[in-house]
Amino acid sequence: MAEQFIVTVKEIIPRTHNVKTFRVTKPDGFSFVPGQATDLSLNEKEWKENKHPFTFTCLPDDDFLEFTIKLFDNPQGLTNKLKTIEPGAEFEISDAWGAIEYKGEGVFIAGGAGVTPFISIFKDLKRKNEIANNVLIFSNKTEADIILKDEFKEMLGRNFINVITSQPGTEYYDKHIDKNFLEKEIKNFNQQFYVCGPDEFTKVMLDALKDLGADANALVFEK
Ligand SMILES: Cc1cc2nc3c(=O)[nH]c(=O)nc-3n(C[C@H](O)[C@H](O)[C@H](O)COP(=O)(O)OP(=O)(O)OC[C@H]3O[C@@H](n4cnc5c(N)ncnc54)[C@H](O)[C@@H]3O)c2cc1C
Repeated sequence: MAEQFIVTVKEIIPRTHNVKTFRVTKPDGFSFVPGQATDLSLNEKEWKENKHPFTFTCLPDDDFLEFTIKLFDNPQGLTNKLKTIEPGAEFEISDAWGAIEYKGEGVFIAGGAGVTPFISIFKDLKRKNEIANNVLIFSNKTEADIILKDEFKEMLGRNFINVITSQPGTEYYDKHIDKNFLEKEIKNFNQQFYVCGPDEFTKVMLDALKDLGADANALVFEK
């Protein structure tokens, strides 16, 4: 079994109407690669075994760990319970794991909370002055669902492309991402692609990218 660590919540930062960032203590020597996740539970009797994957949204050398979590309404769900916790609460986390990591310049395509692995990757690139021509295409139901909108805009400028699927009349593209959209927005399919979102979203994006000529070996996603 993977090594487990108890960490303490230090700060809770609201991000959108249903997303919060939880900043926690960092165990000595803990490491991860931007894009990786951990199995996390609440260190309370009835919740400890209820583990779910969440992605680190801080930088590996920050002196804290951070998770940015979409909170659902299901009364039995972990994320519903996380709405009620306060600083001082404890999480149990595992070693870091996951297939998403930066492999070179390309196009990042995220659906909703699927953007979380890209937060740490872009913060890392920004710090190294290597944002270059990386592009983020971010799909959400409404404008109010866009996580870290100002931060992404600041890091990526015109290469931050929002898609809003269920709120007509915004300044953004207002349909689901499809092959036509990708063909219009992406000039070069001979580069890296990073996809993260709900399973169906990921499948549709990967199929469309392959149809448009992307190399299967240049597609980075959580398998
Ligand atoms: C590798 C990996 C990394 C992940 N990283 C993150 C992360 O960093 N941040 C993050 O927020 N999530 C992340 N997730 C998703 C996260 O693990 C799930 O959202 C979480 O497990 C939900 O736990 P829960 O007990 O609250 O679920 P439940 O409350 O039992 O159910 C939540 C699920 O039910 C559905 N659902 C429930 N209510 C609604 C609703 N009102 N509208 C639409 N759908 C609804 C959704 O499919 C949702 O995923 C990650 C998943 C994987 C596989």
